[in-house]
Amino acid sequence: MAYHRESIKAGHGMQLPATRPPVMNEQMAPRIVVVGGGVGGLILASRLGHSLGRRRLARISLIDRSWIHVWKPMLHTFAAGTWNIYEQQVQYAAHAHKHHFEYMPGQLDAIDRTTRRIRLAPMQVAGELVANARELEYDVLILAIGSRANDFGIPGVVEHCHFIDSQDQADAFNARLRAHVVRSFAQGGNVEIAIVGGGATGVELAAELSRMVELAEGYGEADIRRRLRLTLLETAPRILGAFPEAVSAGATSGLRALGVDVRTGVKVVAADAQSFLLDGGERVPAALKVWAAGIRASGSFDESGLELSRAGQIVVGPNLLAKGEQRIFALGDCASLVPKGVERPLPSTAQVANQQALHLVRHLPAWLRSGKPVPPFRFRDFGALVALSEYNAFGTLGRFGFFKGGFIKGRFAQLSHAVLYRQHQLSLHGPFRAALLWLAERINALVQPRIRIS
Ligand SMILES: Cc1cc2nc3c(=O)[nH]c(=O)nc-3n(C[C@H](O)[C@H](O)[C@H](O)COP(=O)(O)OP(=O)(O)OC[C@H]3O[C@@H](n4cnc5c(N)ncnc54)[C@H](O)[C@@H]3O)c2cc1C
Repeated sequence: MAYHRESIKAGHGMQLPATRPPVMNEQMAPRIVVVGGGVGGLILASRLGHSLGRRRLARISLIDRSWIHVWKPMLHTFAAGTWNIYEQQVQYAAHAHKHHFEYMPGQLDAIDRTTRRIRLAPMQVAGELVANARELEYDVLILAIGSRANDFGIPGVVEHCHFIDSQDQADAFNARLRAHVVRSFAQGGNVEIAIVGGGATGVELAAELSRMVELAEGYGEADIRRRLRLTLLETAPRILGAFPEAVSAGATSGLRALGVDVRTGVKVVAADAQSFLLDGGERVPAALKVWAAGIRASGSFDESGLELSRAGQIVVGPNLLAKGEQRIFALGDCASLVPKGVERPLPSTAQVANQQALHLVRHLPAWLRSGKPVPPFRFRDFGALVALSEYNAFGTLGRFGFFKGGFIKGRFAQLSHAVLYRQHQLSLHGPFRAALLWLAERINALVQPRIRIS
């Protein structure tokens, strides 16, 4: 793509704001590159595809290191094998075609802000090199690459623990889980699992694993539930520290009733093949170990020159532009936004990512057309929910919505939790397709086993 420094006029009547350096080739619509097709990025690319891409007012490109999108908050169900992963996948290429944007597989490796280019790392599929390192130019860059758990440099964690931050990782854990369950079926012996991190991921995974083993009992091994040794380790005095105490207390007793050993106030200092080592010398035996503690930005932006938080997230201003930048936005888990009058950054949740994406969907077209500034993003807290599989759910309803700030549990909380995913499907596919997908899932549930065990 050739650049003309004097011209600010974009193709098809779109103009980039005059306050920014000129960038456009007269014939070309601005190229908006979204990196990361997760909760925030995929909705953003799909909606911009409809508002700008379809009319060729902008060229929208979505880059993701994976070929398929899954809704990250359900990864623990794939890890436990209690939900069919293949039913819930969205293929980027097909989705892009339908929603007027282009999809390019690739992993962001570096950003050159001066030349406005990103570099994608060489790509391998099944051990074969399928693409060399590539460069891509952008007029507007939107980073939405999410986050991953933070091993804090603790010895042995990277080598011996599973992480549940991507579909591949959830799959890898599930394969080992099935091996352990089948071994227990065949030879007896305990299935020992320990999870570090009493946040929503660790808590929901523990409940889902319990459910998986309960369902497995029905497939022939009546004793297997008793042979599951499931431990949840948390450094803080209580699990779900970001939630109100009532949620934390409800979830703790719910998990204990399921037989999970919930241990709070313990610090893991090392991991090896067979156990976690706690501060003080105690060992917690576990052949299967999951690390679900802490949070870090998914990629490394260290060389990019962008301002970063301590967790490596990109510091953004109220309009979601990276600090000091004119053309680089960041949203969701990879961004750190401290709202005015508040001390802590917004939490890394699907709700925040979704609202930030919709904020840009609403305001980017005017910003591109006339330079009208993107207004400050205001987070509307609709509450937070945590589900203990099909057993129970707990949550708060936040400061917006009908039941302001209320504590909920039981069936209503479970339903509210389930609605979150359906809303995501609705946003991505529209009502007709979302309803068909739901129906297909219900029909499949009648004919398929409820868990993945082989
Ligand atoms: C098991 C689990 C349960 C959760 N439960 C909840 C819940 O109940 N409620 C809630 O609000 N939140 C929950 N969360 C958190 C929620 O999933 C995240 O806050 C949300 O997904 C963030 O959205 P995002 O768009 O920022 O990033 P993501 O949804 O993580 O998407 C990031 C995308 O970027 C891609 N990517 C990453 N690195 C690169 C790279 N270098 N180059 C190219 N592409 C890249 C990834 O493949 C992915 O598609 C849960 C998380 C987990 C792991």
